[in-house]
Amino acid sequence: MKVYFVGAGPGDPELITVKGRRLLGEAGVIIYAGSLVNPEILKYAAPGAVRYNSASLTLEEVLAIIRRAIAGGQVVVRLHTGDPSLYGAIQEQMDALERMGIPYEIVPGVSSYAAAAAAIGREYTLPGVSQTLILTRRGGRTPVPEMESLTELSRHRASLCLFLSSQSLAAATAELASGYGPETPAAVVYKASWPEEKVIRGTLGDIAAKAREAGIERTALLLVGDFLAGDYKRSRLYDPAFSHGYRGARNNNG
Ligand code: SAH
Repeated sequence: MKVYFVGAGPGDPELITVKGRRLLGEAGVIIYAGSLVNPEILKYAAPGAVRYNSASLTLEEVLAIIRRAIAGGQVVVRLHTGDPSLYGAIQEQMDALERMGIPYEIVPGVSSYAAAAAAIGREYTLPGVSQTLILTRRGGRTPVPEMESLTELSRHRASLCLFLSSQSLAAATAELASGYGPETPAAVVYKASWPEEKVIRGTLGDIAAKAREAGIERTALLLVGDFLAGDYKRSRLYDPAFSHGYRGARNNNG
């Protein structure tokens, strides 16, 4: 028997993977991050599955539940929001399982940064604009290495997606404006892919005030960069004059 760390996706229950959904149906025990995972997703669970909301549990308590379930011959699903590899605190769980000799597997999920791009209908990597996406957070109770401060990262002017920082948007946008400039387009996406999804658009200069007026305090991402608006170069991938491994160059538009 195994522990599966499953990415639940950003909220919409249809955005879990086929594999994640199957494992939810097979699990005897499901431990889910109740603060962020859409409880709707638990409709894929077997009726008899025991469910625990990890929001009120410590790491030690989670491990004790897992140990008992595995000893009892049950499949365990540990459901994390979005993709488990981002801000999921799964490393400490995996390392503990390793020490306990309990096998585990990770099933990726659709991260909220992908759902946010879908919600606003923009592409992060536009030729001539940016070919880099920075996924980061502002330092708070969890410290961020100095080299990764928002001021430092803003110097690249790459497309940027800020997690876990809805409550310090004013400070975050001020720091980011040092490199991007206050006129740079910005958007806040609240609960991407949930029925109550909200999108707020503005610039680094005004987005924090707009988000505050809209009452957004959590479960939101701040997107920053010129990818949100404006000009870009056509992609070479689908350019008839450009050949690649799957298609030769063409000298007409046919
Ligand atoms: N592993 C998750 C991130 C967990 S950290 C992922 O891959 O998306 C939690 C933070 O993610 C929240 O504070 C918020 O910034 C962001 N987040 C998670 N779900 C979101 C959603 N549906 N819409 C917008 N932001 C979301």
